[in-house]
Amino acid sequence: MRSITSIKDYHIALQNGHTTCVAAVSHFIAAIQEKAHLNAFIEVFEHDALAQAATLDAHIADGKPLLPLHGVVVGIKDVICYKGHRVTAASKMLAGFESVYSATAVERLIAAGAIIIGRQNCDEFAMGSSSEHSAYGKVLNAADEARVPGGSSGGSAVAVQANLCMVSLGSDTGGSVRQPADFCGIVGVKPSYGRVSRYGLIAYASSFDQIGVFAHYINDAALVLATIAGPDGKDSTALQTHLPQGIHHTTPHRPMRLAYLKEALEHEGLDRNIKAAFEQLFQQLKAAGHTVTAVDFPLLTQMVPTYYVLTTAEASSNLSRYDGVKFGFAANEVTQLNDLYIQSRTAGFGKEVKRRIMLGNFVLSSGYYDAYFSKAQQVRRLLQQQTRNILASYDAIISPTVPGPAWRFGEKSTNPTAMFLADIFTVHANLVGAPAMSIPAFQHDFGMPFGIQVLSSEGAEATMFEVAHELARLVKPGLSIN
Ligand code: GLN
Repeated sequence: MRSITSIKDYHIALQNGHTTCVAAVSHFIAAIQEKAHLNAFIEVFEHDALAQAATLDAHIADGKPLLPLHGVVVGIKDVICYKGHRVTAASKMLAGFESVYSATAVERLIAAGAIIIGRQNCDEFAMGSSSEHSAYGKVLNAADEARVPGGSSGGSAVAVQANLCMVSLGSDTGGSVRQPADFCGIVGVKPSYGRVSRYGLIAYASSFDQIGVFAHYINDAALVLATIAGPDGKDSTALQTHLPQGIHHTTPHRPMRLAYLKEALEHEGLDRNIKAAFEQLFQQLKAAGHTVTAVDFPLLTQMVPTYYVLTTAEASSNLSRYDGVKFGFAANEVTQLNDLYIQSRTAGFGKEVKRRIMLGNFVLSSGYYDAYFSKAQQVRRLLQQQTRNILASYDAIISPTVPGPAWRFGEKSTNPTAMFLADIFTVHANLVGAPAMSIPAFQHDFGMPFGIQVLSSEGAEATMFEVAHELARLVKPGLSIN
C-alpha cells in the first residue's frame, strides 16, 4: 500500500479490494521496525492490532458498509489509557502499570472501526517541548535526526511524519500537539477545552489538558476529532455541545477576517526566516481578498509565566497520587511510610517532573500563593476576556506556531527557561480554552519545516478548519482533500 494515504483514499482501496486492514497493519508494523531508531513507539500492540484488522476485513467480506474510521491505523501517546494495555506516561513511576479501562477517546475510535497499533513515546508526564525527557530515551525528528521532534507528544508526531501509522492521538496542555506538528511538518489539532473527554487521559494540568490529533491532511484530523469529540458523562468538564456535521469536508472559498498579534510578529525571539514568511503570507492573504489586521496584545509576554505558574500548581496536585503505594514504582527495603514516599518519588520521577512539582508547591505555598497563583489566575481571566474581544470581530488569530524551527538535541536542555519560552504562541489557546491547530506551510533556510497556527473562538472548530483550508489553498493545497 502507498505510504501516505488519506482516509478517503484508503477506504476506496478497501472497498475495491486493492488492500485490506490486515495488509495495512502489517505494513505499519514493518515500518515501525524499520524506523525503530526514531524511538517513536514505546510498544506495538501487534497481536491485538492484527486481530482487530482481521475482524474488520471479515466485516467487508460480509458486504457490510464501512465504519467511519474502518481500519484506520492509529497510534496513541503513552498518556492515554487503553484497557488491558500498558500506559506509563513515559515515566519509571508507572513502569508495568496496565490500564483497567479505556479512555473515552479510545473507546470511540474503536467503535468507529479504528485500530490502535501501539503507544508512543513522549516527555515524561507530558512535561516538555522536546521529547528529550522520557524514561525510554529521546525521540528523533525524521526530517533531521540531529534535531528534536518537539514535545511533549514527539513520538506521536514522528509516527505520522515517518508514516509509521496513519494518524496519532496526542495531548496538548500548552502546545504538545501543535508544536511537534510544526517541527515535523504535519497537521496538529488541539480542540476547545472540553471538546474531547479527558476520561482516561493521565492528568498533567487538568484545566488545560486536551487530547488532540496528528494527521497528514486537515480533513483526516477533522474526521478523527469529530469521532472522539462530544459530551461524556465521565468528564464533567466535557462540552455539552456537538461539533457540526460534516466538519471534515473542505469548505468553499470565502473572504476571511484574520487578526495577528502585533507583539507576536515584533517579538525579539522570532526567527527572521519565519517573520519574513509571515509578512509575505499576509500580503498573499490580502491579495486573495481576506482582511489581515494587526491587533495590540500587550499581555503576550505574560502568557508563558502565567502558564507555568498555573500548570505547575495543577501538576503538583495531580502528581501527588504517585506515592509508591497506589501506582507503579515503589522503593525497596524501606520501613517507614514517609521514607517510602520520599524514596519512591525520588527514584520514580525524572528531573523535569521534579522541577515542575517543586515549582508548583512553591507557587501554592502559603507565603507565595497570592503573589503567584492568585495573580496568575487573574491574568488568565484577563487573557480570556481580551482574546474573546478580538475573536468577536475576527474568524481567527494567525501566528507562527513556534518562534523558531526545531532545535538541535541538547541545545535548550541546560536552560529550562529558554525551553519554556519556545511555548509563547501555543500556550495562548490552552490558557483561554480556544481551539487551535498548526498546519505545515513553509521550509526554513536550513531545511526544517515550520507552520501556521490558527486560533479561533471557544467552540468554533468549524471556523478554525475553514481558515486552515483557506490557508492551505494559498500555501499548500495538498493538505486539503476535495
Ligand atoms: N511544553 C509545554 C510544557 O512543558 C507544553 C506541554 C504539553 O502541552 N503537554 O508544559
